[in-house]
Amino acid sequence: MIDQSIKPVNEQIIELVKLLNDYSYAYHIKDSPIVPDAEYDRCYKALQELETKHPELIQKSSPTQRVGEKPSYGFVTVPHTLPMLSLDNAFNDASLIDFNERVSKLLSTSHIDYCCEPKLDGLAISLRYEFGRLVRGLTRGDGLSGEDITSNIKTLKSIPLTLRTDTPPEVMEVRGEIYMPTEGFERLNATAIEKGDKVFVNPRNAAAGSLRQLDPKVTATRPLVLCAYSIGYIEGGEELDSHFDSLAILNNWGFRINPLMEKVQGIEGCIEYYAKLEAIRNELSYDIDGIVYKVDSIESQKRLGFVARAPRWAIARKFPAQEEMTQIEEIDFQVGRTGAITPVARLKPVFVGGVTVSNATLHNKDEITRLGVKVKDFVIIRRAGDVIPQIVQVVEDRRPEDGYSVIFPEQCPVCSSDTEQVSGEATIRCTGGLACSAQRKEALKHFVSRKALDIDGLGDKLIEQLVEMELVSSPADIFLLKDKKLDLLKLERMGKKSIDNLLNSIEAAKNTQFNRFIYSLGIREVGEATARTLASYFKTLAELMSANEEVLVSVEDVGPIVARHIRVFFQQESNRETINLLLNAGLVWEEKPESDESLDLPLTGKIYVVTGSLSQMNRDEVKNRLIQLGAKVSGSVSSKTSCLIAGEKAGSKLTKAQSLNLPIMDETELMAFLSDFEAY
Ligand code: NAD
Repeated sequence: MIDQSIKPVNEQIIELVKLLNDYSYAYHIKDSPIVPDAEYDRCYKALQELETKHPELIQKSSPTQRVGEKPSYGFVTVPHTLPMLSLDNAFNDASLIDFNERVSKLLSTSHIDYCCEPKLDGLAISLRYEFGRLVRGLTRGDGLSGEDITSNIKTLKSIPLTLRTDTPPEVMEVRGEIYMPTEGFERLNATAIEKGDKVFVNPRNAAAGSLRQLDPKVTATRPLVLCAYSIGYIEGGEELDSHFDSLAILNNWGFRINPLMEKVQGIEGCIEYYAKLEAIRNELSYDIDGIVYKVDSIESQKRLGFVARAPRWAIARKFPAQEEMTQIEEIDFQVGRTGAITPVARLKPVFVGGVTVSNATLHNKDEITRLGVKVKDFVIIRRAGDVIPQIVQVVEDRRPEDGYSVIFPEQCPVCSSDTEQVSGEATIRCTGGLACSAQRKEALKHFVSRKALDIDGLGDKLIEQLVEMELVSSPADIFLLKDKKLDLLKLERMGKKSIDNLLNSIEAAKNTQFNRFIYSLGIREVGEATARTLASYFKTLAELMSANEEVLVSVEDVGPIVARHIRVFFQQESNRETINLLLNAGLVWEEKPESDESLDLPLTGKIYVVTGSLSQMNRDEVKNRLIQLGAKVSGSVSSKTSCLIAGEKAGSKLTKAQSLNLPIMDETELMAFLSDFEAY
């Protein structure tokens, strides 16, 4: 936040009002905030404190005097029947306790039931039903009037067009939050990145932007959900006395309500509920930014009434922020196992999403261009759940004069070899291969990692030391360490006992599995799952090493790019040598010789491809059954395919099989075919 303490109070107030109104305009009207909520909240609190001390200086345009922003152009503005207010915030237990004391005093009792609701992070909406039919949907706007977005909200499946009751009230206005579940948000952004479109900073902005589309067809494609949280206005209907019960009725009438909502007693119940929700916050499939506590009795709500912009009977207890602002001090380049050079932003440490963050990856050149980021920029960092912290936006208004553009190195920052960018790839790579000590270290870390050879006691730090002291430069060297005990003793924190333990686990790791070995080689794009499929497809290492691309693409889940990487890897002399050295060092695994038993199976030697949707067995069941019968199952059709099994809606694989004149079976034929082998 800008330090204003040296300025006269009236100037500080005017500046804060202007700043907050600018933020609010970007947030509410443009759906594109320029600072994180935590920063907005800090400025808001500072303004509130100044206004409390100097009420004579309160500005008419102060955000403390109103809710939200004037509705934007493009939609018709309609007044709300009753204002849609904001909520007071509590950022700690103490403020929540103060709230309970205020309420208890005004109601002259400490026996208060509260309805506790997750505060969904989306945007508020009011839906008007007349005689049970949806007639209008309005955004909150400035609280007094909102934008008419009826056509858009009608595209949401969670909004009932007619209430599910034979006795609807004459008029009812339901209020709720429209939000975008995390998964849908991530999918939307991934597609936007692919198309080069605008990316949303968080699910809330994505929901707001999606809802305020001028074309309802666009809204219809967005994964939006409505969750009802109150009846704002009712006429000609039954008077209710509990807020909690009113939500149960809304649920019966066809609205989704949040299943985590609970009625609790007193402040203790509220605090317990907060702890419970905070613990599961990260596991939820949608964003919540706090808890809303509401006095449950509607009669008490009426007695408590409202202050300027919020009801006295409710409060929002906010969770710690998942977005924060900080400054990039430097951008460094890290060299990975495959030579990929990744820009990493070194940040002024900032507490966000429950941890202190001081680094964030910028992935590649395209990401830097997409964000328009410069060194020294202020940026918004988001860390939601256990996801790694991300830079989601540059705060352009705060760009310092000494900011400068990121220049990608033409030489590797570690080994000074030239860098290259393969056309069609976003990644820039060091061409040094294993001559580059960074690549060597990363390759070795990968080789010993848990899913690869799983060598206990050989952690990242130790590998780095081993490479720096030139005790190890290729994976096979690890197996020669047993002859270098004296050198090992010179390493930090290595005693006789730990050396013995290390050497024992290296020895034990020699007995491995074929899939682990394939994975440990670090072939580009060959992850654990692909290594497993390769290991079950090829009987021997020799067979895998000599497989050409046509054979490789016939392996389930191996596409042309991966096939190419595999082929190139095994063609390289240095890699073949490393493999030889490893085998000479004694690395072994059980190979699956073509046993007499498998030779006897009815489908031995046949290659099947399964495509389209099946109704009687799912695709995995069919594949497993075919493998049990001795067949190989491949992911793509080639001239070597023995037969294509084509379910409903089969696409390009069917066309290809037809063009190659291959045998094709539909589901009925498949079932009959399999029933012939029941004995196996
Ligand atoms: P608010 O978001 O703190 O609380 C009120 C809103 O909570 C309601 O309108 C509704 O949308 C929502 N809500 C979710 N669940 C609810 C429930 N169960 N019951 C009732 N309401 C529920 O207040 P506000 O006035 O909407 O906005 C202020 C907040 O907006 C600030 O705290 C700030 O974080 C953010 N803001 C940010 C910027 C920015 O630039 N980043 C600008 C303006 C506002």
